Amino acid sequence: MDPGSNSLMWFRKGLRIHDNPALDYAAKDSKHVYPVFVIDPRYMEPDPTAFSPGSARAGLNRIRFLLESLTDLDKSLKNLGSRLLVLKGEPSEMVIHCLKEWNISKLCFEFDTEPYYQALDDKVKSYASLVGIEIFSPVSHTLFNPAEIIQKNGGTPPLSYQSFIKVAGQPFWSSSCLSTSLSCLPPPGNLGSCTISEVPSLNDLGYKESEEQDERTPITGGESEALRRLSESIADKDWVANFEKPKGDPSAFLKPATTVLSPYLKFGCLSPRYFYQCIQEVQKNVKRHTSPPVSLLGQLLWRDFFYTVAFGTPNFDKMRGNRICKQIPWDSNDELLAAWRDARTGFPWIDAIMVQLRKWGWMHHLARHCVACFLTRGDLYVHWEKGRDVFERLLVDSDWAINNGNWLWLSCSSFFYQYNRIYSPISFGKKYDPNGNYIRHFLPVLKDMPKEYIYEPWCAPLSIQTKAKCIIGKDYPKPVVSHDSASKECRRRLAEAYELNKKLNGTVSEEDLKKLR
Ligand code: FAD
Repeated sequence: MDPGSNSLMWFRKGLRIHDNPALDYAAKDSKHVYPVFVIDPRYMEPDPTAFSPGSARAGLNRIRFLLESLTDLDKSLKNLGSRLLVLKGEPSEMVIHCLKEWNISKLCFEFDTEPYYQALDDKVKSYASLVGIEIFSPVSHTLFNPAEIIQKNGGTPPLSYQSFIKVAGQPFWSSSCLSTSLSCLPPPGNLGSCTISEVPSLNDLGYKESEEQDERTPITGGESEALRRLSESIADKDWVANFEKPKGDPSAFLKPATTVLSPYLKFGCLSPRYFYQCIQEVQKNVKRHTSPPVSLLGQLLWRDFFYTVAFGTPNFDKMRGNRICKQIPWDSNDELLAAWRDARTGFPWIDAIMVQLRKWGWMHHLARHCVACFLTRGDLYVHWEKGRDVFERLLVDSDWAINNGNWLWLSCSSFFYQYNRIYSPISFGKKYDPNGNYIRHFLPVLKDMPKEYIYEPWCAPLSIQTKAKCIIGKDYPKPVVSHDSASKECRRRLAEAYELNKKLNGTVSEEDLKKLR
């Protein structure tokens, strides 16, 4: 390549300098490198009341995390002699405009498996190929290349973790092929007529810190924070060696039981390959350690598993037209959905988790299990797609493949089919936190409720409710359903739906589902 040429590095996820093969390649033999991030209006909906199910709009915490990550990236790029060029608009149009304006000969961006990015990339790639721009789009958001795994598996994705592990084998890369950090970058050249800005503020994007947001999420964005958190997690070698999921306390919030690295992996502030390598390093130096699927390394493999299935399954994010999803006649009950979303179910364990979701944008894996099971097959029988949408907006780590994969799992629509195993919204949390400290923290209205009643405040005599300054039905809602009868009815309806799926073997129509409603 001509050493005087210009490269465009298109950041989307992969908001990092370390282990970023697209950035390394952009820097190689280039006179100018243009590091670009496009703010995509598709994700912006500042008004929480305008949120409509099915939209990809992001809540305040995730946008704040993104902006913090961009600011951190800009700072790192400045240390390398460059800067981040921020644009706003439909990403493929903006990138094509830049390619034209800046006389780019090399376009570099991380490969993305999400259908939305695949469609954007196709548009940009077809323009670039047409005008002879070199394209470099490596896989670095996952440990494995999902396309290769699917090919190795005969054209379809492996549908169980064990078969995934068998097909995947060891990651192809070794420590020597993980790129080292750059020491400097060629600066961007003339910016032409492109409208470039600094990293915007929340205000610039129309988001406002809400007044009710009295507790701000402790999760702040950026590669620097990701690497700090990673070294903190792996410094405790015994903890890494003995990590075992699903053991671990979902109610621990002062010191969560898992790494809380998911938001950093989602935005690519942390390389999963680097994370994997750090865990391997710890494992090499201890006598014994846990193994996949329960080990920490095993968690990263779960991530790759869901990425691979999602990439190889058309309509992965829907029930209809999704060949791996059981067809179930879920109820469409907006009142129950709203009660769940707004932490008004009357079950303190469920409501506290939903408050943590709104305030922090993160909850422990088992806490997610509990609320997802409660909304769908456990109690309310509401469609998993609706719950998925709420998570998609509010989670800081909201990730298309992992979120959909886990909702399919928890609703017994795919991967896991033991619908008789339901999480009790009363006794499950109590096992870990008999005093209800988690509930008291996230639902302060219940902070003075005696521990005997904290999981079932509706059972407290009125005198106790009065003393705790929390009258059920006035200060805190009555339960929206009776768990015993609702869960029994859910089991019955799922048994019926499973029977129908078996009988019709993948040809269940909307009409067939209607008959079961
Ligand atoms: P750790 O236990 O420290 O694990 C390390 C990393 O492994 C995680 O950061 C994550 O990248 C990966 N990982 C862990 N568990 C899983 C899993 N079950 N599936 C796939 N990858 C996993 N995770 C997301 O990252 N984004 C989502 O949108 C998301 N939605 C979920 C929805 C539901 C209904 C459920 C039940 C789970 C969901 N998860 C999601 C998976 C899991 O709960 C989180 O990844 C985990 O709790 C993040 O915390 P951590 O980083 O401390 O995890």
